[in-house]
Amino acid sequence: MTSHRTLYSQLPATDRLLRDAAFSALLHEFGHTRVVNALREMLDEAREYIRFREALPAWHADWAAQAKKRLEAGQQSAFLPVFNLTGTVLHTNLGRALQAEAAVAAVTQVMRSPITLEYDLDGAARGHRDRALAELLCELTGAEDACIVNNNAAAVLLMLAACADGGEVVVSRGELVEIGGAFRIPDVMRQAGCQLVEVGTTNRTHLKDYRQAASGGNAALLMKVHASNYQIEGFTKSVSEAELAALGSELNIPVVSDLGSGSLVDLSQWGLPAEPMPKQLIAAGVSLVSFSGDKLLGGPQAGIIVGKKDLIARLQQHPLKRALRADKMTLAALEATLRLYQHPETLVERLPTLRLLTRDATAISEQARRLAPAIQTRFGERFEVRVEPCLSQIGSGSLPVDRLPSVAITFTPKDGRGTTLSTLTQRLREQPKPVIGRISDGRLWLDLRCLEDEAGLMEMLTQ
Ligand SMILES: *Cc1c(COP(=O)(O)O)cnc(C)c1O
Repeated sequence: MTSHRTLYSQLPATDRLLRDAAFSALLHEFGHTRVVNALREMLDEAREYIRFREALPAWHADWAAQAKKRLEAGQQSAFLPVFNLTGTVLHTNLGRALQAEAAVAAVTQVMRSPITLEYDLDGAARGHRDRALAELLCELTGAEDACIVNNNAAAVLLMLAACADGGEVVVSRGELVEIGGAFRIPDVMRQAGCQLVEVGTTNRTHLKDYRQAASGGNAALLMKVHASNYQIEGFTKSVSEAELAALGSELNIPVVSDLGSGSLVDLSQWGLPAEPMPKQLIAAGVSLVSFSGDKLLGGPQAGIIVGKKDLIARLQQHPLKRALRADKMTLAALEATLRLYQHPETLVERLPTLRLLTRDATAISEQARRLAPAIQTRFGERFEVRVEPCLSQIGSGSLPVDRLPSVAITFTPKDGRGTTLSTLTQRLREQPKPVIGRISDGRLWLDLRCLEDEAGLMEMLTQ
C-alpha cells in the first residue's frame, strides 16, 4: 500500500503549478487571487482525500482542467435564466413580470448615459423624479397625481406613515391579510407608527362598523386592502370602495386602498378574470390607491400610488419617500411600459404578461404535441409522458381560484415512486437553462403557457 507520505509528496506546489503554461490562460482570465484560492482549496481537498481514502483524487491527473472547471462554476451568475413551465405567469420566485422590449431598450439607454432624472431642460427646476411618470399615470387612471416607490409594500408603508401620522387606521377584520414574504397588514401598520382599529368580523363588515369606529374622532384614515390571495365564500359582506369613499368624504377622513395587483386595462375584454382597476377606485372617490408595477401591470418591480394632489404631495415630502424612491432603471422601464398602455390595440402583442395570460389553449396544445416526442425520447424511459389539459394561474396575489385553461406535458413514473419523480425534477433543473415545472398528483407537469422560446427548449433537449 502506498504510504500517506508518498501520496502527499505527489501533490504539486502552488508556485510550480502557477508557472505551468496551462495556468497562464487561467491567470489571464480569472486573475491571480481567484486562481490561487482555487488551488488552495484543491490542495486542501486532496490532503483530506489522502487522509481518509489513502489515494489521490481522480482529478489529480490534470490540475489545470480541474481548476478551470471550478473557476468557471464560480463565475456563474446567481440569476440564471430558466424556462418557467410552472404554469404561474407572475411567479414571484422567478422574478414576476417579463419586461416588454420597449422597457428593455429604455433601461439600457439610461444605464449608459446621464439622463434628465431630476433636471428640467427649460431651467424651470420643477423637478422631482416621478413627474413624467405621474403625468402618464394620471392619464391612465384619472388620478390627480402619482408617486412611485420600490414596491407595493413600500407604497403601503409610505401611505400609512405619511397620511395617518401616528393616528388610527380603520380596517375590516376580513382584510387583515398576509401577502407572503412576511408582509402582514397589522405589522406594516405598526412599522408605520399607526394604530390599527379592526372593524367587523372575518366574514362580514358593514358600513356602520366603519362609521362607529371613525366617529370617535381619532381616525386618521379609512383603509381597504384587496384580499388578493384568498377568497371567502358563503355568508359574507364587505363594504365597497365607493361606499367607504362616501363615508370618508362625509367625515372628512381620507380613504386609501391597497389594491395589490391592479390592472390598468379591463382584462375581461380578453376573457380573463376581471381584476379591479385603479381607475375605477379613483372614479369611486378613493383618495389614494396603491398597486404593484410587476404584477398585472407587467412592468418592473415598483410601487405606484395614485390619487389626490394634496395627499400625494405629503407622500413626496415625507422623509421615507427618499428611502423608498425608485431608481432610474425602474423609472425608465415603468415609463416605457406605461407608454404601451397609451396604445391599447397593440398591448397584447407588446406586453409579455398580457401576451402570456391571453395565450390560447389550442396553440399551447399544438406546441405540446410538437415537443412531446423529443421529451419522451430524452427523459421518458421511466415515465409515461402525456399531453394533458391543465389550469395555469395568474400568480402574485391574483385570485388563486381564477384559473386559465392550458396544456401540459406530464410525466407519470412507471414505478409510481416519488423519488423517481424528484430525480427527473433535478435533471431538468440541471439543464444549461433549467426547466422548472410543478409536481402535483404524483406527476410532474410542464405547463407550456409561458413557453415562448420553443425552439430554444427543443434544441436544448435534443442536443
Ligand atoms: C402583492 C401585494 C402587496 C405587495 O406588493 P409588492 O409589490 O410585492 O411589494 C401588497 N398588498 C397586496 C394586496 C398585494 O397583493
